[in-house]
Amino acid sequence: MSHDDCIFCKIIAGEIPSAKVYEDEHVFAFLDISQVSKGHTLVIPKQHARNIYDTPADIASELFARVPKIANAIKVAYQPDGLNILVNNEAPADQSVFHLHIHLLPKYENAEGYSSNWITHQDEYTADDLQNIAKDISEKIN
Ligand code: 5GP
Ligand code: ZN
Repeated sequence: MSHDDCIFCKIIAGEIPSAKVYEDEHVFAFLDISQVSKGHTLVIPKQHARNIYDTPADIASELFARVPKIANAIKVAYQPDGLNILVNNEAPADQSVFHLHIHLLPKYENAEGYSSNWITHQDEYTADDLQNIAKDISEKIN
């Protein structure tokens, strides 16, 4: 199901040009126009989903199943020193296009590129705190 005002649905349909990396029945992959690092690729489901929250499990399975072979193709083509995989969900988490997409970000040592830059808070949580948080979340899984 495609959404009329979605640029990634238009890319899948060929209405907006893209540098295609891979396509099959369920999945489309193309270069991110921003090229945070050389080979930066987006892997998207053909069926429109806003982000991870509204993605059915079968679509998520089909989508992630393609990631290893595309990641390996980037690895063989450009020999990056590493590769980050990222999904941004909702604007506060840096989602700007509201069609689910997996970023494949090759990491080249000593070069600009994606950096997670996260701050750890391990000292602020006891083992009990962690058990309580895990319980809060696990109780909501259905
Ligand atoms: P987000 O910030 O939502 O995780 O990532 C959206 C990505 O889509 C951005 O990295 C941006 O560069 C990319 N993007 C936005 N519009 C286009 C487009 O028209 N073509 C391509 N190839 N990439 C796009
Ligand atoms: Zn879409």
